[in-house]
Amino acid sequence: MLDDETFQRGLRTGVRNAEGRFLKILAEHPELEQLARMVEKAKKEVISKIDYYIDMAMKSLERVHARAYLVHTAEEARETVLRIVGSRKLVIFSKSMVAEELKLREALEEAGNEVWETDMGELLIQLSGGKPMHTTAPAIHMSRFEAAKLLSKKLGIRLSENPTPEEIVSAVRDILRDKFVRADVGISGGNALAADSGSIVLVENEGNIRLVTGLPPVHIAIMGVEKIVPTLQHALAAAIVQAAWAGLYPPTYINVISGPSSTSDIERKRVYGAHGPREVHVVLVDNGRVRAARHEVLSEQLKCIRCGRCQWECPVWQQTANVWGGPAYGGPMGIGWTAITLGVKEAAELSMLCLSCGRCDEVCPVRVPLSSIIRWLKRQYASSLDKG
Ligand code: SF4
Repeated sequence: MLDDETFQRGLRTGVRNAEGRFLKILAEHPELEQLARMVEKAKKEVISKIDYYIDMAMKSLERVHARAYLVHTAEEARETVLRIVGSRKLVIFSKSMVAEELKLREALEEAGNEVWETDMGELLIQLSGGKPMHTTAPAIHMSRFEAAKLLSKKLGIRLSENPTPEEIVSAVRDILRDKFVRADVGISGGNALAADSGSIVLVENEGNIRLVTGLPPVHIAIMGVEKIVPTLQHALAAAIVQAAWAGLYPPTYINVISGPSSTSDIERKRVYGAHGPREVHVVLVDNGRVRAARHEVLSEQLKCIRCGRCQWECPVWQQTANVWGGPAYGGPMGIGWTAITLGVKEAAELSMLCLSCGRCDEVCPVRVPLSSIIRWLKRQYASSLDKG
């Protein structure tokens, strides 16, 4: 892939088009910096008392009639979701890096379900059989011509010889409308979970998340435990900061979901399952995070809100995209996440490609000390070589 000229050209175009957006947003909205400090403080608080906040979040979820699950491994997470979904269902996904980490889509397909990604970029990744190449822009390496070719080959979509992004988006919209309406289950991630209210907050621009979480009778939200923040106010702040540092400010939509839809309009009796989902299941994933919360170095990575800003900035990522960083995540943040979810050994070797320029540290909204984490991993790699 790295010597593939089409991949490199697509990546260069994506990076060029993204450049400058971030600085403009922060220059026009200096108040966002203050919000980022608030999010950083909230994340630190939760990481330092992770068990307490997991417990609080689960109780709050149950209070709003959502069903809460705490799962410790990727396998347990897949089994839990499969038990809820069953088989032969139509399942729609909104983009989720945790789902990618767990290989959830593949597990659901193997169980005999029809699964559709609904985020534009993530759908292209699903159809190509690859992995997302950026946290917020998964198909960054694909030109519009490749996207059109893929859609025509896999879905039979007919596009003009010189397709515009508008034409592609419109064709995909037509195909997915029917899936949204017919889906049995919608699976989303979550930008933050408020421990005090049990509210899930999701930020987006496409409008697919509100359909995935609002139309099917069953909604499953799958989230790493590090997404818990103390209050709903912190959760909204985390979503806004994520959008701003992703270069997408103001976000088109922020969704707040506190349990299943309900109404008390008939005899003031509360009925769950009105126009939106009848069931909301929240699967909180540990998969190495709780252990990392007690680790002096790796706990810092848990502050990450996955805005992807460090990836855009990294000179190595600009050449490799997420080919470098681990099987699910990529770039500077990916190295830390790989260490947490797959183990230090797996991440240590990958860390050796880092140039230690420190540009990632400079741009992170929640001050994850990425280069220190990577430096520590490099030391682990060196000492593993010493031990032979
Ligand atoms: S480490 Fe920081 S800059 Fe990188 S994705 Fe996470 S929050 Fe964003």
